[in-house]
Amino acid sequence: MSTKKTYYETKAKALINVLKNHNFDPYYCDCIDDAKKLIINLLGSNKVISHGGSMTLMDNDFYECLEKNGNEIINRFDYKTPEEQKELKKKEVTADAYFTSCNALTMEGEIINIDGLSNRVSAIMYGPDEVYIVVGMNKVVPNREIGLSRASNVAAVQNAIRLNTGTPCTKGGRCFNCLDEHTICCNIVITRYSRIKNRIKIILVGEELGY
Ligand code: SF4
Repeated sequence: MSTKKTYYETKAKALINVLKNHNFDPYYCDCIDDAKKLIINLLGSNKVISHGGSMTLMDNDFYECLEKNGNEIINRFDYKTPEEQKELKKKEVTADAYFTSCNALTMEGEIINIDGLSNRVSAIMYGPDEVYIVVGMNKVVPNREIGLSRASNVAAVQNAIRLNTGTPCTKGGRCFNCLDEHTICCNIVITRYSRIKNRIKIILVGEELGY
């Protein structure tokens, strides 16, 4: 096994114990394919599913597999007007299960996310009975301070570049805490505990995934 894999496994083992104390339901998978198989088993069938456009899970085969198991996937691009988009986003946050990643996960057991429209952080906080957060070990950081910096200066900047927002970070390569109308950073959310035990399932993956 490579040194990096051993490092990820060692870190994940320690983190899993911490996450359990926060009422989360954590798992570790060696690779994204194993993570997908695990999710398919945990999820089961007859559920309405939505997702936050995670770059980690953007894979038609995966969603097709969930559909073949008798689940319904809400198509997040199935709208033509702003009104239809609003209705679709409301439907997403009341699905049975929600899939997303996060912008940072701390060794202290806190999940950190930044959101623009904020339907993604809404679904994590309240609504779906099950939330699946798939996290590459590259997003695991020691503490809240470093996690907040990672979320702004690493994850949000790359998402802003991907979405071509034209915000200051897309030119300067770091967060300028902008108030630009196109900012993707309206809400910065720290999820530190789940009132409902095991509602939030955290799938750690021993690979570098997403931003
Ligand atoms: S500069 Fe603005 S859009 Fe870019 S990461 Fe910072 S707050 Fe977000």
